[in-house]
Amino acid sequence: MSIQFGPDYIRAIAPYQGGKPISEVAREFGLDEAKIIKLASNENPLGMPESARQAMLKAMTEIGRYPDSNGFELKAAISAKYGIPSEWITLGNGSNDILELAAHALVQPTQSVVYAQYSFAVYALATQAVGARAIVVPAENHGHDLAAMARAIMPDTKLIFIANPNNPTGTFIPAAEIEAFLKLVPSDIVVVLDEAYNEFLAPEFQYDSIAWVRQYRNLLVSRTMSKAYGLAGLRVGFGIAQPALTDLLNRIRQPFNVNSPAQAAAIAALNDTAFLQKSAQVNTDGYHQLTQAFNAMALEYVPSFGNFVLVKVGNEDDAGARVNLALLKQGIIVRPVGNYGLPQWLRISIGLPEENAAFIQALRKVLV
Ligand SMILES: *Cc1c(COP(=O)(O)O)cnc(C)c1O
Repeated sequence: MSIQFGPDYIRAIAPYQGGKPISEVAREFGLDEAKIIKLASNENPLGMPESARQAMLKAMTEIGRYPDSNGFELKAAISAKYGIPSEWITLGNGSNDILELAAHALVQPTQSVVYAQYSFAVYALATQAVGARAIVVPAENHGHDLAAMARAIMPDTKLIFIANPNNPTGTFIPAAEIEAFLKLVPSDIVVVLDEAYNEFLAPEFQYDSIAWVRQYRNLLVSRTMSKAYGLAGLRVGFGIAQPALTDLLNRIRQPFNVNSPAQAAAIAALNDTAFLQKSAQVNTDGYHQLTQAFNAMALEYVPSFGNFVLVKVGNEDDAGARVNLALLKQGIIVRPVGNYGLPQWLRISIGLPEENAAFIQALRKVLV
């Protein structure tokens, strides 16, 4: 008889599927790594900011020492940027860490967590990892249906995840709707507002979620340095919440969860407004480039507020997998989203103009 380790709810977890690494695709398809284009993980196509690279290299001289466990300087930079006290900030090894900390700190096995269908995969993983029950609320036009999410709250609900904009669909919830939702949610249930793509929002869609944190002690806003700031490989994210909630997260946070080069790079990137502006511009241009091509090919796509676009590549059940494989053979890595229940769709991260063009050309070849 074979021995089974761990609780059933851990064994039931399907591991997170990330974008395929370039080196893996090169090996699998016998391609030249240098010619492979990766539009699969919503990374910044500009790479990391030069300011962050310099700061990181400088910090490397101190790598023999432990990082500042409390992240004093990085918190000071975040505090200055958002006008909140350092005591309201939790640093994370990526914002993924913040999402998991929230689940671990707030939810016991068999209690419930509410999130939307087609929302970020980590919500399901974090929920399962603590043995909690997921209440998955059907999406509306691929986005969050906040009214339905409010109705779905049960007496044992402890946590609600909202992504705005959402990944993998790119949908956006207007500020007024989120505010109305926050008013409806009982104050002992924590709402995580995951704003991983906030920096890509056009000025007319931006809103002040930090003001909500001041008003609602059950709100945790989560941000990342992985997307617009171009530091995905360094793993830095942060949560902003009032001290009672922040204190709780800090109790279970690994003492040295953000390494020292990452802390240094994040400080530089946070203050690099020129890089952020350029990233937003590249993204806007790339979005138009991709969606114009989709329109020309009569492909349905979900209007996106992030740095990626969800596009429907066929009507057969396995259209996403089929087109994905054909693209991989041409050295283009995008993200199939069958695991999200969207097997006819692919998620394309917005790249540099020439990368987008190469993808469009490859897609045309596959679809004719
Ligand atoms: C990418 C992403 C994150 C997490 O990114 P980290 O690299 O862990 O900071 C969180 N939420 C959403 C919706 C994302 O798409």
